[in-house]
Amino acid sequence: MTVYVRIDDLAQPLDSSILAEVTDIYAGIGITVDTQFGSFLKEELKIEGNIQITILSSRFDADDQKLAESAVRELWETPPGGSSAAADNVVANTISNLSNPDVWGYTAGLAPADPLRSPILIKAPPDNWAENDVFTRAYDNSVEANKARDLYYYSNVIVHELGHTFGLNHNNDPLDFMYNLPPGQQQIDKIMEKILDDAPKDDLVRWQEFVRTEVASRKRYFSDAATARDTISKFVK
Ligand SMILES: [Zn+2]
Repeated sequence: MTVYVRIDDLAQPLDSSILAEVTDIYAGIGITVDTQFGSFLKEELKIEGNIQITILSSRFDADDQKLAESAVRELWETPPGGSSAAADNVVANTISNLSNPDVWGYTAGLAPADPLRSPILIKAPPDNWAENDVFTRAYDNSVEANKARDLYYYSNVIVHELGHTFGLNHNNDPLDFMYNLPPGQQQIDKIMEKILDDAPKDDLVRWQEFVRTEVASRKRYFSDAATARDTISKFVK
């Protein structure tokens, strides 16, 4: 029982460490996610368990909107069940949701009847994200800082959006992957807040080492992994 995820990162290239992280997190709850860069063919999108993710810039400008629209149409105009009118409606909802700067990812779902074929759109980390500063301080050069920042951001957002296609709703636990993040971009999330509280304050080198290590090891969890497994076993042949 494997879910196949293809990530179109042409607009915003990602590091392959992000793919491995997403696969690892789902392996931890007994779900096999085959994650690769690329795009499914239209025919492949008809198959349950093939999920297309498209990465957009954080600006969500006219080019991003075009990408989002074509990703939605690709699937929503595809039979069975698809039609132009349905696609128009989903395109409008998708553009409206992603135009909100506080929305980082959106699952343009066929749920609940057909949850596993939803196109997922994900924006790059916003310039004013509170966590940016933590990564800048934790690394001596910006290349490493951005790589660690991207790994943290994208793995959380991708795992969250995939959770929706696996039938999971939001919850109120800030340490759960399905927490409705973010309530506002300026807010440091609860995991990072705890790491910063625990970090030694007296020495920059020790602070940097502590933050790097803890960011890599403290993960969110799923309080409802059973629902995700049930959805996949129901829909994936
Ligand atoms: Zn969500």
